[in-house]
Amino acid sequence: MSLPPLVEPAAELTVDEVRRYSRHLIIPDVGMAGQKRLKNAKVLCVGAGGLGSPALMYLAAAGVGTLGIIDFDVVDESNLQRQIIHGQSDVGRLKAESAAASVREINPLVEVVIHNTALTTENVMEIFSGYDLIVDGTDNFATRYMVNDAAVLLGKPYVWGSIYRFDGQASVFWAEHGPCYRCLYPEPPPPGMVPSCAEGGVLGVLCASIGSIQVNEAIKLLTGIGDPLVGRLMIYDALEMKYRDVKVRKDPECVLCGKNPSVTELLEDYEAFCGAISDEAAEAASGSTITAQELKAMQDNKENIFLVDVREPNEYEIVSIPGATLIPKGEFLNGSALERLPQDKRIVLHCKSGARSAEALAIVKNAGFSDAVHVGGGVLSWVKTVDPSLPSY
Ligand SMILES: [Zn+2]
Repeated sequence: MSLPPLVEPAAELTVDEVRRYSRHLIIPDVGMAGQKRLKNAKVLCVGAGGLGSPALMYLAAAGVGTLGIIDFDVVDESNLQRQIIHGQSDVGRLKAESAAASVREINPLVEVVIHNTALTTENVMEIFSGYDLIVDGTDNFATRYMVNDAAVLLGKPYVWGSIYRFDGQASVFWAEHGPCYRCLYPEPPPPGMVPSCAEGGVLGVLCASIGSIQVNEAIKLLTGIGDPLVGRLMIYDALEMKYRDVKVRKDPECVLCGKNPSVTELLEDYEAFCGAISDEAAEAASGSTITAQELKAMQDNKENIFLVDVREPNEYEIVSIPGATLIPKGEFLNGSALERLPQDKRIVLHCKSGARSAEALAIVKNAGFSDAVHVGGGVLSWVKTVDPSLPSY
């Protein structure tokens, strides 16, 4: 399937632009007309992280005239293993600012628009409406569904990508010509079932593999060349070094883009839709959450506690709270952890940020450990508020 170009060509290219883009201009399919379309194009990249880094760099180099960058986060040392648009001297700087500086360095002819804010239901429609195409580099389901819904409601195409460890996926969602994200994934996964990259890790170079597919598709859509990834899901396995593509059909019953849509405007709360943690976990954590500093005080006062780290062994190796016993969350799910818990001590659970330990807490309380608690903010909060000399990840 080929689609008409998304963008009308700019009136002309300057002499500087002709010199800079000459290797594009001599490709017959791109040529002067294609490059003028890129010059006229306005592309928004959601997130200047793992996927956003290579995407922004190649979109800038390709000569996309206006590049929007939306990110509210700051550059952390643990980002540098894959977020190559940022460098050592950018640590602590706003990602949107840091990415904009790199884009200007790669191509000063690009107009950069910085959206130094979180994408919310209040601003997403207004921000998206200023662009021809969206590149989605988000890493969480709540934002993903919001990006999809806004793009469908505005009739805009977006290029989606996702990465985890050695596995990547990419597709183009454009309801006017094919399926949307909800056609492929009607329901978000149950909370706690799909680990994020922050929990499970990601091979740094995988970001380049998937981010470059996203840019490739963006350029094809903007200039109207080739066979776009509309209605196809590209699946990449870096260990096997295999690409597969799977047909994705438009779901006539899709609640958003189907024949009788029930979702006709943005949801009120995407976090709630995707459920940051399950209801059972939220209930268990309510009134049974302590701070990292309270845990430190318990240890200093030699209180009779049994501290359990429910993360994975790799994470425990990176950083752990002194005195913690490692029992990964999976052992709570299959029940084998319970016999390892002493009956005569108060159980204190923690994980990286508090989500997994809340899930484990629900299981522990159900098993009769009624005074068990978990540490809100997990080991990250411990590093921040108790012992900043420890590494964060
Ligand atoms: Zn749909």
